Amino acid sequence: MAIDILIKNALLRKSGEKPTDIAIKNGLIKEIQNNISEEASEVIDAGGNLVTESFINGHLHLDKVYTLEKVGMAALDSYKAGSMGGAMTAIEQAAKVKEQYEESWIIDNIRTALDLAVKFGNTHIRAFADTDTKAKLVGVKAVIKAREEYKDRIDVQVVAFPQDGIARDPGAEDYIRKALELGADVVGGIPWIEYTEEEMQDHVDKMFALAVEYDKDVSMLLDDAGDPGLRTIEMLIKKTIELGWEGRVTVQHARAMAMYPEPYYKKIEYLLKKANIGLVSDPQTGPLHARVRDLYDAGVSVALGQDDISDAYYPFGRNNMLEVAFLAAHLMWMTTFEEIDILYDLITTNAAKALGIKNFELAVGNEANIVVLGVESTVKALWSHEAPVAVIKKGKNITVG
Ligand SMILES: [Zn+2]
Repeated sequence: MAIDILIKNALLRKSGEKPTDIAIKNGLIKEIQNNISEEASEVIDAGGNLVTESFINGHLHLDKVYTLEKVGMAALDSYKAGSMGGAMTAIEQAAKVKEQYEESWIIDNIRTALDLAVKFGNTHIRAFADTDTKAKLVGVKAVIKAREEYKDRIDVQVVAFPQDGIARDPGAEDYIRKALELGADVVGGIPWIEYTEEEMQDHVDKMFALAVEYDKDVSMLLDDAGDPGLRTIEMLIKKTIELGWEGRVTVQHARAMAMYPEPYYKKIEYLLKKANIGLVSDPQTGPLHARVRDLYDAGVSVALGQDDISDAYYPFGRNNMLEVAFLAAHLMWMTTFEEIDILYDLITTNAAKALGIKNFELAVGNEANIVVLGVESTVKALWSHEAPVAVIKKGKNITVG
């Protein structure tokens, strides 16, 4: 039986020297070897350029993509009505947009964002969908629908996310439960925005109770403001260990980590490793960021995320993880070749570990999720951050154009 796809002259990251061949069959990497001569239905000549795992986006608010214009209009409407538009915070303005939520326009925006993901070889996305008393189930339903529509091209992990809190938004917890019934994959959370420590703890406890009841992974936005006194990562770690949820939990954002006192940071670093909790950082969307390099050196599974595409919080974004890594290189001052290799890990193999994606590495027997780049090094890949010349998902060539 012929193989499905044969990639010739592929320069692998680990091999370091000579290009090799990769045989793909039935969705899996069947062989990595020089001069594979078996017959193949399709041959891709990499021309000695870099061939790696495809890209993973650890964090994207997928229901809100391309809502910036609507947020602007909503704010303008508030000004016209003489209300407190000028004093509204970004979260409140974004929440107001949810009153206009309709599946028809949300799904169109999601498709635009996911088409870009395919183009840029971004085959796995952890997608947050606001699930609360304003968005109700409209956003999460649209994201679930898109997950099914794109399932051969992208693995969309749908996070049911109570963006406006649990105590602050009574009724949100019920909507999270309903979203899990509808098929959401991951339980979200944002305990740091609650008003008191008791309510933050209660938020963590309630979301974990749902995760246990529905046997789901957990992904929460934690300590995400410029306040070194925030302690919700610690609450999450404690709960993870208490319930035996190690390896199934991811910390998102955690900007306050940049301001923790050093001894406290060291404790959190140790506990994240001990509880096998991953962390996703999006340094391009805010003034502070988690201590990515230190966490990586300590052996914590770290990933990068796009976070936003043209919404109330960030006006850019193309679902291009090479572009995200390029921005991160500047913002985190990671510009040596060694550090650029680390950044490449944070959007591929390390991201897989952070999100619990199994058998992801480019190795024989693993699922074939592969990009063929037009350049021969990770430095040039970040430098140009151009779309791959070929994208393979689960052994199928999904390259656009
Ligand atoms: Zn976010």
